[in-house]
Amino acid sequence: MGSGARMRALVKAEAGPGLQLAEVPVPEPGPRDVRIRVRKAGICGTDLHIYEWDAWASARVRPGRVIGHELMGTVDAVGPAVRSLRPGQRVSGEGHIGCGHCYCCRTGQGHICDRVDIIGIDTDGCFADFVVLPEENVWPLRDGISDEVGALHDPLGNAMHTVSVQSVAGQSVAVTGAGPVGLLCAAIARAHGALDVVALDPNGLRLARAGEMGAHATFDPRHPGTEDAIRERTRDGRGVDVLLEASGNAAAIHFGLRVLRSGGSAALLGLPPGDVAFNLAEEIIFKGITIRGVNGRRMFETWYQVDAVLRSGLVHPERLVSHRLPLEDYRTAFDLLRRGEAIKIVLDVAR
Ligand code: NAD
Ligand code: ZN
Repeated sequence: MGSGARMRALVKAEAGPGLQLAEVPVPEPGPRDVRIRVRKAGICGTDLHIYEWDAWASARVRPGRVIGHELMGTVDAVGPAVRSLRPGQRVSGEGHIGCGHCYCCRTGQGHICDRVDIIGIDTDGCFADFVVLPEENVWPLRDGISDEVGALHDPLGNAMHTVSVQSVAGQSVAVTGAGPVGLLCAAIARAHGALDVVALDPNGLRLARAGEMGAHATFDPRHPGTEDAIRERTRDGRGVDVLLEASGNAAAIHFGLRVLRSGGSAALLGLPPGDVAFNLAEEIIFKGITIRGVNGRRMFETWYQVDAVLRSGLVHPERLVSHRLPLEDYRTAFDLLRRGEAIKIVLDVAR
């Protein structure tokens, strides 16, 4: 593409709420980069934070940024040093770009790189006709994976990572938060052999979807008796073996720890907006539970695990998608998300 070519992009134009559909230069790939022609892009809760310009977003995101990080598209152009990809290939991509030099990156833990750049936050993202990624961040999609599921690989990877930090086979599992990631956690936990998966969310639309995604039972946490009802599903009412926390809500985290049995395992992925206080002795120490923080996706072990579970046919990520809208309708999309009337919205970017 000649220099001077322009494309459509959703840009955080000013330090304030909203986004603008603008014409910006088409990005040029560096020697080891791949330019992707974006076909579909998922909207994530992070994008909503940037849209609304909350305290986190205003501290982290610089105006002028093209946002978006959940993508599927086709390879458009490759830099001269790229060896594994060719134009026309269908791909998704890992949006976390590790620095490659820090302790974590050099010990196979690039998902917790100290100096990570995230596309759509720290570098330009995928709510645009084109996005550039380093070759190693591009994930080729095999035939049989739809474009839409290709665009869901990022949250699929978050959920896979959350489920996989402990064994769930033969276990009872509680998932707090039935947003996109929690719903995928429920589906993957069941596919991985969890014998009882309960999902909790106060949002009825989302809770209903949890049953369709594979949860054995669903609960509104505000309903009195929920804690007892979950305990009763386990032998002697001792509580669930595994907690997968995907709400970031402090009350949900405390609730989840209460219904977790002594000696159980908790994987925490949800991001609370502020500090959360614990009674460490009662909630964690005396119960001897194991808590793991889960960040991003292991590169690229998680991606192979996602591919394997999709191959199994046991997980149906497309059931998550509540709305499919053209890029131009981004305001409608963000309004739906803000009102809690959507689950996952996929933008059709390609015209
Ligand atoms: P989301 O905001 O769409 O879903 C969160 C859900 O939690 C909502 O449906 C909400 O109704 C529900 N919830 C609120 N209060 C609750 C309560 N008391 N009990 C049960 N559920 C409750 O978010 P998402 O995209 O599904 O992501 C889930 C969480 O994970 C978010 O906090 C997000 O910021 C975080 N996240 C973390 C990582 C990571 O790498 N650690 C990656 C992606 C997302
Ligand atoms: Zn690093």
